[in-house]
Amino acid sequence: MTENGTQRIRLGLVGIGKIARDQHLPALAADGRFDLVATASRNASVDGVPGHPDIAALIAGDHKLDAVSLCTPPEGRYEQAVAAIDAGLHVMLEKPPAATISEIAALADRAEAKGVVLFTTWHSREAAGVEPAKAWLQGKQILAVRITWKEDIRRWHPGQEWILAAGGFGVFDPGINALSIATKILPDPMLLQKAWMEVPEGRASPLAAELEMRSGTAPVTVSLDFLQTGPQTWDIEIDTDAGTLRLGLGGSVLQLPGEDEQKAPDQEYARLYARFAELVAAGTSDVDIRPLQIVADAFMMAERRVTAPFAF
Ligand code: NAP
Repeated sequence: MTENGTQRIRLGLVGIGKIARDQHLPALAADGRFDLVATASRNASVDGVPGHPDIAALIAGDHKLDAVSLCTPPEGRYEQAVAAIDAGLHVMLEKPPAATISEIAALADRAEAKGVVLFTTWHSREAAGVEPAKAWLQGKQILAVRITWKEDIRRWHPGQEWILAAGGFGVFDPGINALSIATKILPDPMLLQKAWMEVPEGRASPLAAELEMRSGTAPVTVSLDFLQTGPQTWDIEIDTDAGTLRLGLGGSVLQLPGEDEQKAPDQEYARLYARFAELVAAGTSDVDIRPLQIVADAFMMAERRVTAPFAF
C-alpha cells in the first residue's frame, strides 16, 4: 500500500543496461508507489531482485505484475511490449518508443483494445527548464530556432553497437531528445524541408545529421553530431520578438533574455515514474509520437553521404 492507501504498482524492469542502472533503479527506489518485483535481461540482473532471461519468463514468473518498464534498445521492443500488453500489463517505454511509426501505432491500438496503459516517455521533456520555457514562449512570436546536439558516442554509449545498426537511430538516439523538447515547447508543428546524414561505411545509422525545418513561419535548424569530443553541447536557442531564449545542457538550464540562468536538480526520471503512476491510476495512455515522426521523416528525406568506417 502507498501512503494514500492505494495499491503499489508491481513493476518488472526489462533490459538492465546503462539507463536502467543510471536512472530507472534510483527513481523506482525513491518512489513509494512502485515495487520493483522482478527483472528481465539476458546477461544482467539487479541484486536482491528475482531475475529472468527474457520478458516471457518474467511474465510466466509468479510475480503478480501490474506493469513493465522497457529499457531495452528500440529494435525488438515491439515484441516485448506486445507480450506485456497481451498479458494485461501496463507498459512504460523508454525513448524512442519503437523502431518504426507502424510499431508504435500498432502498440497504441493493442493497448487500447486490451484496456491497459501505454506511456511513451520522453525524459528530456522533464528537464527543469522545459516547462518554464514553454510558458515563457506563450503568446510570443517565434522568429528562428537553432538546435545543436553534439556529443561523444564513445563517452556516452560505450560499445553500444546496436545504436549504429538498423533501428538504432544513430545520432538521432540523443537527437530525438532535442526534438522531444522542441515539439513540446513550440506552438506550431515542426515540418521537415531538407535533411543530410553521414553514415559510416558498413553501418546503417548516421553519426551526423543536419535538418532544415520550419515551425509556423520560423526556420528551424537542427545540427546533430555523435563525434564531438571536448565540451558537449545540448542547446536549443529560440529567437522571439521579446529576445532569445536559451535552453542548455539538455533542457536543464534556462536562460531568458535579461534574466539570470535558472537551474534545478535533475528530476527527469522521478517525474516520468510519477506520471506513469498517475496514468495507471487514471487508466489513461499517453502516446506522443511527434519526435519519432520527425526522425522517420529525416530517414525518408535525407541525402546520405557514406563516411569512413567507425569503431568504438
Ligand atoms: P544499453 O546500455 O545497451 O542497455 C540496454 C540493455 O537492453 C542491454 O544491456 C541488454 O541487456 C538489453 N538488450 C535486450 N535486447 C538487446 C539487444 N538486441 N541489443 C542490445 N541490448 C539488448 O542501452 P541504454 O543506453 O541503457 O539504452 C536503452 C534505451 O534507453 C535506448 O532506447 C536509449 O535511447 C534509452 N536511453 C538511454 C540513455 C543513456 O544515457 N544511455 C538515456 C536515456 C534513454 P542484456 O544483454 O542483459 O539483455
